[in-house]
Amino acid sequence: QITKNTIFVVAGASGDLAKKLVYPAFFSLFHRGYLPQPTYIVGYARSIIDHETFLNQVTENIPKPADDPTFPAKLERFKAILSYQAGSYDDPAKFQELNIYLESLESNYSGSERNRIFYLALPSTAFVQVAENLKKNVYTSHGTNRLIVEKPIGSDLESALELVHAISQYWTEDETFRIDHYLGKEIIKAIPVLRFANSVTSGFWDSKLISNVQITLNESFGTEGRGGYYDTAGVIRDVIQNHLCQVFSLLAMERPSQLNPTEIINEKVKLLQATQPVNPENVLLGQYIGYLDDPGVPKDSLTATYAANVLLINNDRWYGVPFILRSGKALNETLVEVRIQYKDAPGSLFGNNPRSELIMRIQPNEAISIKLNIKSPGFDSGVVPAELKLNYKAAFPDVFIPGAYEVLIRDVLNGDHATFVRNDELEAAWKIFTPILHYIDGKTNDPRPVPTKYEFGSQGPPELAEFLAAFDATRV
Ligand code: NAP
Repeated sequence: QITKNTIFVVAGASGDLAKKLVYPAFFSLFHRGYLPQPTYIVGYARSIIDHETFLNQVTENIPKPADDPTFPAKLERFKAILSYQAGSYDDPAKFQELNIYLESLESNYSGSERNRIFYLALPSTAFVQVAENLKKNVYTSHGTNRLIVEKPIGSDLESALELVHAISQYWTEDETFRIDHYLGKEIIKAIPVLRFANSVTSGFWDSKLISNVQITLNESFGTEGRGGYYDTAGVIRDVIQNHLCQVFSLLAMERPSQLNPTEIINEKVKLLQATQPVNPENVLLGQYIGYLDDPGVPKDSLTATYAANVLLINNDRWYGVPFILRSGKALNETLVEVRIQYKDAPGSLFGNNPRSELIMRIQPNEAISIKLNIKSPGFDSGVVPAELKLNYKAAFPDVFIPGAYEVLIRDVLNGDHATFVRNDELEAAWKIFTPILHYIDGKTNDPRPVPTKYEFGSQGPPELAEFLAAFDATRV
């Protein structure tokens, strides 16, 4: 665990991720006292930016609470630990200059410990050269070094393995923290606790009672002018192979023998390795009407902005239970949730009733609820569905629920790998999705599949209900 004398270097500090998510997370941790004492945060990128402009850029997305008169003073204290160095990503001399600058900051430390954490907030094409230059020129031998790597890691199994291998020539697995920010989300972190800290909930994971499991990430907005990157990726690479697959593995893994990162990730890997590669027959693809109007998108693009994929697992617990991972842009709502749908009660004593469900709402408004059939209240003896609901904000009104990036930066400081993606985990996840991606890209079949068009603001492709029904799943 790192508690003092630390410098964070954010490579790509001029970029969107750094400004929108990384620096605001640093601010939140800093003013709550969760950063080591002392900490410096040094931005590094090619753009020439003067100090004031840089400070304005990286603090403009920090939320300004109306009811906190101490906020301006907190912001000023935060600005005092920020600085920026311009330099290229491929010139060792620039990294040596960066090293000299870091040493000048470190000369203010008391004691000999020096820790450096490097955050690659860069397009993945720059990862390897920056990782190499940091290791060769900026690595400290007086403390702990850690490397944080953003997604995307590869675009298929082969490219992911290549990237992992290239970085591993300079950074050990223990030093490397591959971010999937979904692992920092409150409800996702709550899944193992809900499952393994309550004996009663093991019944909720009894596959004999489960009809299907749906993991859904819906966005009500489209690509909004950023279609250039999106079009080369598509929805499966963008969010399903990584974010939803992580939720899937936490949801379906067996109980780890101990609560340490190695044992937890071992269980996730076993689950992923037991999962069959996605079969093209078990996929529904869609593209919203209007996507082709995005200036970055080719007019004849076949990229899917919606996909529903069914994962099937070859193990004792889950054999025959479909896990439906689905996501889309330009839908009728923004929502991320897990929904376990149970089989109908045997015997239909009370007629045909809606099925029971366990619902974990990841965002917005974190909540866990159970949908059950109860007696209609009053003289009526019919059956109505009702929800037992734990709404996090209502249940814990005074608790600060940190954002995913705050959680993950803290976990890096603690050296806790449980919320990061291990190399074999990444490999296993890509093995599930690479065949279907190559199929969709037209590498393994001709012609390429054509995604069904759907209306902006709709629930997705018109065939969705029929597709789900084939797996006994209902659309909600
Ligand atoms: P970005 O704004 O496109 O790039 C970050 C910085 O990298 C830029 O300011 C630029 O800085 C430099 N850069 C841009 N293109 C480059 C290139 N071709 N070669 C070398 N350097 C280049 O990217 P981002 O949105 O911040 O994302 C950074 C990383 O986080 C990416 O891997 C992305 O996939 C991932 N990510 C982003 C988000 C998000 O919300 N933005 C969310 C999750 C993950 P200089 O020109 O000043 O050097």
